[in-house]
Amino acid sequence: MQQPPHAENADVRMRGFARRTPVAVAEAWVDRACRPLPPEMTPLAECAGRVLAGDVTSEVDVPGFVRGMMDGYAVRAADILGASLYNRIPLRVIGASLPGRPFDGSVAAGQAVQIMTGAPLPAGADAVLPAECVETSGDGVSAQADVAPGAHAGRIGDDIARGTQVLAAGRVLRPQDVGVLSSIGVAEVAVVRRPCVAIVSTGNELLPAGSRPVGVCIADSNSPMLAAFVARDGGLAEPTGVVPDAPEAILDAMRRAADVVLVSGGSSVGREDFAPTLLTQHGTLAIHGIAMRPAGPTGMGTLDGRLVFLLPGNPVACLAAYDFFAGRAIRLLGSRPARWPYRSVRLPLARRITSAIGRLEYVRVRCVDGQIEPISVGGSSILSSTSRADGFVVVAPDSEGHPAGEEVEVTLYD
Ligand code: AMP
Ligand code: MG
Repeated sequence: MQQPPHAENADVRMRGFARRTPVAVAEAWVDRACRPLPPEMTPLAECAGRVLAGDVTSEVDVPGFVRGMMDGYAVRAADILGASLYNRIPLRVIGASLPGRPFDGSVAAGQAVQIMTGAPLPAGADAVLPAECVETSGDGVSAQADVAPGAHAGRIGDDIARGTQVLAAGRVLRPQDVGVLSSIGVAEVAVVRRPCVAIVSTGNELLPAGSRPVGVCIADSNSPMLAAFVARDGGLAEPTGVVPDAPEAILDAMRRAADVVLVSGGSSVGREDFAPTLLTQHGTLAIHGIAMRPAGPTGMGTLDGRLVFLLPGNPVACLAAYDFFAGRAIRLLGSRPARWPYRSVRLPLARRITSAIGRLEYVRVRCVDGQIEPISVGGSSILSSTSRADGFVVVAPDSEGHPAGEEVEVTLYD
C-alpha cells in the first residue's frame, strides 16, 4: 500500500511499517549481532546440557593399570594350556586381588590369584580364568579350560588413552559425557556462559502470570511462555513481572542487567506502543515491522550492549516472533546451532493454504491421518490454537500458498 506523505511519518512508530523488513534480512541482523558469550568454569555436577567451550583432551590413561574384566583367577595362560574337563590342571591359590586392593606379590608357575572384576592383574599373571572354568579343592583350584594370553584382562588406556581428545568444543554435554569427564579427573569444565534474558510483559490490562482473569483484565500468558522457551534455548530467564503502559516504567525494565531483553506488548504503531520510540531515543531500533504474519509488528535493536526484541503482545505473534528471532539470538549467544530445535516431516495438505505474496506466513496445523490440516482460527490472539496444533507450516514470502494434496514441510512442536 502507498503511504501518503504525512506529518506522522516522522514518528518512528509509523516509519517502521512504511516498508516491512523481510524475515531473512531480520535473521541476518540477528546473526551479525550475536557472538558466543565467553566461557565460565563450572563444576562438573552442573554441566549436563551446557555447551563445551573448548576441546577436552585426556591427560591420563583410563584405566591406568591392567585390570581383570571378570571374576575368576589371575593365571599364567601357558600354565593351563590344554586344560579341559578331561584334563584338569591344578593351580595353587596364593592370594586375592580386589578393586582398589591389589595383590602385591607375583604369580609364579603353577600359581593363581583370585581376582574380582576391576581389580589389578597381579604381576606375573597374563590372563583371567573365569570362575566358572575352575573347580575349587582345598587351598587350590583346578582349571577346566584354558585361556589365551591377555584373556579377560583390560589393557592400560583401553577406555581412553592419554592424549586423546575426548570431547570437542560446541558439544552439548550429555549425562554420559559428564561421566567421561569425571573418569579423566576433570572437576570443573569451561562451558559457554548462558545468556541472561530479561522478560518484560507490558500492558495495563495484564494481571501477573497465573492470575485468574477478572473483569477487563487478562492474565499475562507471554512471560511464562517466553521463560519456558528461553530455558529450552539454553538461556537464563529472568521475568520482571508485569509493567504498565508507561514510558518510564518500560524504559526502566528494558535497562535491567541482561544480555537480551524481551519486551512483550506495545511493539506496534498504536497510541500505547511506547517501546519502539524508547528504543530509538535511548538505543538503536535496527528493524521495526517484518514481512510476516503473524508477528508483523516485531522490532529489534540494541540498548547499552543488550539485544532488545520487541515482541507483539498477541500471544501467537509473540510466539512466532520469539521463535524466528529472539530464540535464534539466545541460541547463538549460547553457542548453540541457530536452527530450530524442532524436527520436521513432509506430508500432503488436507486443505489449501493461501498467503499473500511478499510476506512469510506461519500457519498452525494438525497432523491427522497422515495429512496436514490447517487450523482455521483467524487471529493471532488465540494462543490455545498453538496448543491444539502439532506444528506449523511456513509459507515462503514468494509463494501464494499451496493447493490441497501438495506435500509440504511441517515443523513439529514436539
Ligand atoms: P499489544 O501488542 O500490546 O497491542 O497487545 C495485543 C494484544 O495482545 C492485546 O489484546 C493484549 O491484551 C494482548 N496481550 C498483550 N500482552 C499480553 C500478554 N503478556 N499475555 C496475553 N495477552 C497479551
Ligand atoms: Mg498493549
